[in-house]
Amino acid sequence: DNNVETVFTYRSYSPQDTEQLAAAIAAVSTAGLVIGLDGDLGAGKTAFSQSFARHLGVEGIVSSPTFTIIKEYKGRLPLYHMDVYRISFQEADELGLDEYFYGQGVCLVEWSSIIQELMPPRHMHIHMETTGLDERIITVTGIGEPYGELCRDLSQKWG
Ligand code: ADP
Ligand code: MG
Repeated sequence: DNNVETVFTYRSYSPQDTEQLAAAIAAVSTAGLVIGLDGDLGAGKTAFSQSFARHLGVEGIVSSPTFTIIKEYKGRLPLYHMDVYRISFQEADELGLDEYFYGQGVCLVEWSSIIQELMPPRHMHIHMETTGLDERIITVTGIGEPYGELCRDLSQKWG
């Protein structure tokens, strides 16, 4: 099985803690990296994405791509920030997301569980759960390689 899942659990007690995780992942990002984000409204998906973008070298504000579905930014690598919350599976299917997933940039997909079947077989999944005012349990799942390796590196760093 090529798509073994490797899990790393991170406890965040502040937006800064979440930024630290986003920074660590951004630092090792390479072309073609795909990250799906899920979690309730207010869990911190956009906060994570903004921190991630900043640490990828994107200048300016990264907002939730509410009306555009996909927003493209220029950092050390191109960043494709998507939010599929408001579109149907059918609409997402017609967007031709593979062009982004298998492109030269990094993809961050908010609400990726909606389009789970459209996600590449290998990717990183991040689930954010609100457990207190500022407390979040962040579950990072590496599905296949090199995502498993990335998760193991994160575990080593914080485990
Ligand atoms: P989502 O995109 O998941 O709906 P947002 O990122 O828009 O959520 O909002 C998350 C909110 O929670 C922000 O106002 C952020 O400052 C706040 N917050 C508080 N604690 C944390 C934390 N530990 N990690 C991330 N965000 C946090
Ligand atoms: Mg959001």
